[in-house]
Amino acid sequence: MRYVSTRGASPDVSFQEAVLNGLAPDGGLYLPTADGRRLTEGEAGWEAWLRQYSGFDAEDAFAFPLEAIRLDERTWVLELFHGPTAAFKDFGARFMARVLPHCHRGNAPLTLLTATSGDTGAAVAQGFHGVPGVRVFVLYPKGRVSAMQEAQFATLGGNITALEVDGSFDDCQRLVKAAFADADLTGRLTLTSANSINIARLLPQATYYFRALELTGMRGAETAFVVPSGNFGNLTAGVLAARDAFPEAAFLAATNANDVVPAYLAGAGYEPRASVATLSNAMDVGAPSNFERLHRLFDGDDARLRAFLGGAGIDDADTRAEIRLTYDRFGYAADPHTATGLAAWRRLRDTPRYAGRTGIVLATAHPAKFMDVMESVLPGVVRLPDRLAERMRHPIRSIRIPAAFEALSGVVVSGSGS
Ligand SMILES: *Cc1c(COP(=O)(O)O)cnc(C)c1O
Repeated sequence: MRYVSTRGASPDVSFQEAVLNGLAPDGGLYLPTADGRRLTEGEAGWEAWLRQYSGFDAEDAFAFPLEAIRLDERTWVLELFHGPTAAFKDFGARFMARVLPHCHRGNAPLTLLTATSGDTGAAVAQGFHGVPGVRVFVLYPKGRVSAMQEAQFATLGGNITALEVDGSFDDCQRLVKAAFADADLTGRLTLTSANSINIARLLPQATYYFRALELTGMRGAETAFVVPSGNFGNLTAGVLAARDAFPEAAFLAATNANDVVPAYLAGAGYEPRASVATLSNAMDVGAPSNFERLHRLFDGDDARLRAFLGGAGIDDADTRAEIRLTYDRFGYAADPHTATGLAAWRRLRDTPRYAGRTGIVLATAHPAKFMDVMESVLPGVVRLPDRLAERMRHPIRSIRIPAAFEALSGVVVSGSGS
């Protein structure tokens, strides 16, 4: 399978090159050139799909279960949070960790730099922990990540080094960008990143949708996938899978108050803006990077995209109300991200677009990751899973650095064994 840029001004590349490049040279995002329509519903599962697109087997990348739970006759939740960091990003990060060493032809070890505001660093660190030939540096802003997040990436040791930066998340991102732009550093080390726009993090997410149909025993034509969305990577992966294997499935994009895409789907122009902080903070994105992919998948045709996809923006008050309602009715504690999906489904399930369909709401994080919100809405209900509690008992081993490039490059050069 070859990959092309959404902007059409870069040469097409192999999967391996797309993974190493991250972003295409023209600034666009990579998309597969052809579709895999040879795979039809019932004929092939997610393993064959992923192999066709990437050339790789998922092997042990998905070593944790998915669970589908029925709430009412027209609503399921698909739990994607049984991985090490209790959020669905574990799937993409683990798959990327398995394939990245094979994408890189040279013998020199890879040095992976990632700036995080919390969750991405956790998934990347856990995914790459112990992977030979890759040394990972996670940069995070001092005092601005939760204790649980910090435990996920700063207690591992081995090939994972956590750098506690005296500054903001923006400072961390600036340092990473400076490293990639520094000729001395890039001459000495093979630098790479694990951005969420990387095709190796996007593709494995398609497997959720195949698995959802397997687990619920439904066909595409009977279902609506409801996807809590921020950067829209998860939803874009679902659209890719559906195009090949279950084209009659419907989709619903749920966002929080950062509702640029729902507003566009309702007929407004596409107008990215600064994000606002909400309870579902992993979805606080005002300029969703994968919109460019989604738009290209519909040949840039707004009318077709609007005909295909519904959307709803759910504010914090409605998110809290949904958490309460879902617990009272079904005894199910949904985290704030999942709750935006449940609320979007409740709002739109009886509209013509979705009438007669059963919603499969993607549950993107374990509620224990958002204990403060859960405690304020459902006191005493959620308990911390053992695997998260266990991680928090390990000592933090991060290296503290000022928000200065020289400090970063010093640690990275000595810590990468060169
Ligand atoms: C990242 C994330 C999302 C949003 O996923 P996108 O692919 O960015 O749309 C939703 N929920 C949780 C818990 C996340 O971590």
